[in-house]
Amino acid sequence: MDYQVLADLLFPNVTDTPADVEAKFPPRELPEGAVVSRMAPSPTGFVHLGNLVQGLISERMAHQSGGVLFLRVEDTDAKREVPGAVEVLIDTLKHYGIVFDEGATHTGDSGAYGPYRQRQRADIYHVFAKKLVAEGQAYPCFCTEEELTSMREKQEAAKENFGYYGKYAVWRDRSIEDIKAELDAGKPWVLRFRSTGSIENQYKFDDVVKGKLTITENDIDHVLLKSDGIPTYHFAHAVDDHLMHTTHVVRGDEWMATLPFHIQLFKALGFKLPKYVHIGPLMKMDGTSKRKLSKRKDPELALTFYKAEGFPVEAVYEYIMTLLNSNYEDWRRANPTAPATEFKFSAKKLNPAGNLFDYAKLTDVSKNVIATMDADKVYALLLQWAKEFDSDFAEKLEGNPELAKAVLAIGRGGKKPRKDIAVWKEAKAYMGFFYDEYLEKPVFDEKFSADTVKTALAKFLEKFDISDDSSVWFDKVKAITEEMGFTTDMKAYKADPDAFPGTVADISTFIRQAVTGKTNSPDLYTVMQILGYDRTVARIKAVMENM
Ligand code: GLU
Repeated sequence: MDYQVLADLLFPNVTDTPADVEAKFPPRELPEGAVVSRMAPSPTGFVHLGNLVQGLISERMAHQSGGVLFLRVEDTDAKREVPGAVEVLIDTLKHYGIVFDEGATHTGDSGAYGPYRQRQRADIYHVFAKKLVAEGQAYPCFCTEEELTSMREKQEAAKENFGYYGKYAVWRDRSIEDIKAELDAGKPWVLRFRSTGSIENQYKFDDVVKGKLTITENDIDHVLLKSDGIPTYHFAHAVDDHLMHTTHVVRGDEWMATLPFHIQLFKALGFKLPKYVHIGPLMKMDGTSKRKLSKRKDPELALTFYKAEGFPVEAVYEYIMTLLNSNYEDWRRANPTAPATEFKFSAKKLNPAGNLFDYAKLTDVSKNVIATMDADKVYALLLQWAKEFDSDFAEKLEGNPELAKAVLAIGRGGKKPRKDIAVWKEAKAYMGFFYDEYLEKPVFDEKFSADTVKTALAKFLEKFDISDDSSVWFDKVKAITEEMGFTTDMKAYKADPDAFPGTVADISTFIRQAVTGKTNSPDLYTVMQILGYDRTVARIKAVMENM
């Protein structure tokens, strides 16, 4: 058959040649070794941890090498598209420090290699589709859904491989007359690749993460263009990543199954193959076994979850880095205050099997990250969170920034900073008692009579002097302890607990509960200093009256 005739028949309006298109996408002028990588999400509106991982890897590889990171929107499946999804994605990733050099933006496209939304690139794909047809490397297929389903059923019954190949590829070698007849009848068609591969053949291939792979050739005549003329992922991937000069394709390893086809397609099109960085899935422990994080079962997959819980962005970023490169933690220990971008990220160190997402570890990392922040920063981030998720608390924080900052400064700085807060959601429980409206009524240990507690509190009130330094203040607490027959000698108490009604810790707890409503609080002396004499005394008196 004269394939050029077929090409003109299928694409009568395509007059550009591949060379014309190539001329519009000249090679990028970048330093030797610069990585060009991209994110190519489908705009489904759900931004998840996997997107962040993929984005972070792509971003580090590009920017660490003086290269380019761009955003291409894979909107070929119009049915799945959610309005505003691209904007949400851009904003969310930006929030996590992933900024694109070019690509889709809130206000259209930015960059010389666009359009960056695939539906706007239909003309470009058609030029390359026409070339493949003219070379006998692609052909139209008029099979209906029903025919394809029945083909599948036959394959299932015969225990054969699924797909459009060999004897099942019924439109592969049809005459131009047959094709014309269908076209004239207005029948819809898809464009299929004419595979010359055989599953008998294997070859070696190197993936940046997975290492040496043995690839079995593809023998399926996959679809390149759907019946609406919009490309499949495979065809768009080859054309776009070639024209946009992507050097490294960072993507989920669910694409490994069609990698043989992608390799074949790049070759058929005469394109240089990019390097592939296939990343493993994020998993979690479910009982004693691992499984992939699932959109349906695991709320922690969505990035909105971390925002609502109140994980600082730095903490999530930091945790993901520890997941991706096992030497990150050592680096961080040696460089506690350096920006994370100074770490030398290596895609080669990614775990080919993927990573186990450990919520407890994230919480731990977050505690450490928050512990390194100064009170001003903690205040600003906490307030930002509260404004969105707890407006009442936000009002309190904003009502008296000095008070809030003084509270948040407790135990901060120094060699061993306190690690009380892992997420902003916990801050209210930690410091809410400073605000009278959030103060809870204390519940004293039943081991002690109300009289005992009252006596201790009364004694404290007698001695309390706001100008005492912390050691004088504590000496007074110890004095009360002795006066009441309690002990300050913890060793003696441990040796013979029945010899004393209680210890200095119990006396401190009575006072702490009276002032804060809780058995746990930041340093009590400092709490009183911040509350001031009047509020401290008023709280203790109120508790005594209500006992
Ligand atoms: N649209 C594809 C996805 O969301 C992109 C994969 C790729 O990065 O090539 O999975």
